[in-house]
Amino acid sequence: MTGTPDRRAADTSEATTAEPAAAGRRRVLLAAPRGYCAGVDRAVIAVEKALEQYGAPIYVRHEIVHNKYVVQTLEKKGAVFVEETEEVPEGEIVIFSAHGVAPTVHEEAQRGKLATIDATCPLVTKVHKEAVRYAKEDYDILLIGHEGHEEVIGTSGEAPDHITLVDGPEDVKNVEVRDPEKVVWLSQTTLSVDETMETVDALQGRYPNLLSPPSDDICYATQNRQTAIKQVAAEADLVLVVGSKNSSNSVRLVETALTHGAKDGHLVDNAEELDETWLEGVETIGLSSGASVPEVLVDGVLEWLAQRGWDEVEIVKPVDEHMQFSLPKELRRDLRSEASGKLRA
Ligand code: SF4
Repeated sequence: MTGTPDRRAADTSEATTAEPAAAGRRRVLLAAPRGYCAGVDRAVIAVEKALEQYGAPIYVRHEIVHNKYVVQTLEKKGAVFVEETEEVPEGEIVIFSAHGVAPTVHEEAQRGKLATIDATCPLVTKVHKEAVRYAKEDYDILLIGHEGHEEVIGTSGEAPDHITLVDGPEDVKNVEVRDPEKVVWLSQTTLSVDETMETVDALQGRYPNLLSPPSDDICYATQNRQTAIKQVAAEADLVLVVGSKNSSNSVRLVETALTHGAKDGHLVDNAEELDETWLEGVETIGLSSGASVPEVLVDGVLEWLAQRGWDEVEIVKPVDEHMQFSLPKELRRDLRSEASGKLRA
């Protein structure tokens, strides 16, 4: 675990539950895994390596990951974030974010003579491929996800005529399909595992022959962070999650904590957003961070809590995590090559 302060000595990785708090004992239960997942790590490194290899500016379509701090840090190094591909000048390099893009965005980039680096997380690409395959087989695809989320827009763009968005269990009643015998569900990678299964159950109630994807679409990182926060929440008076409001997996962590025993929970971008009134009557504080959050922001929250008497930290780690992804292929090719700057016209 990088950047782990010494005071985080009590790693309870072998324990399934942390020790109960003595009366009046102030402690922090630090969930693990937390923070950066392999897809975010890869996307951020891709921007950094592209800046080193080709020089600034490097254009990035949408926030590379949903975290303000990460975006601002990359901007200072020369990354330019744009909303639409058309904003990128002809011949320049554009990186697509970890959330993935629709095929039409690749076509726009080609029309604009842009060099592209696709930092779509391989686990999102897997869902895109499933969508293409089921569309070819003429299934109606019920995509469980949040309306307007970039990942959902990208996946839907792979097969717009076959995909219907289902935004939670309450949306199931609105679903209409052509043939109830030929329906499959897929999902956004960063959803609540529990709520997604509720939605699937409700869909199965309407379509008993509903096909499931070959493996879970909700990614390992989302699942692991939810598993850890559930364990922490069972003992926490207050749960703090570090993450941005537009980060789906971070928002789900707060929701999961509140439905698994935490008495109170808040999502904060960094220590500056913490509020002392939340600490009233609190002994045990649970702490985690979303998959797009660098550890330095968690360290800031730990320092803030330590200054107020919560300086005892126990790590609660129900799952080990070792996933890594290689860099996007366009970048790997140029990093291996003697001649630098191949991508730029
Ligand atoms: S949260 Fe999961 S799907 Fe999203 S970037 Fe990270 S590993 Fe990939």
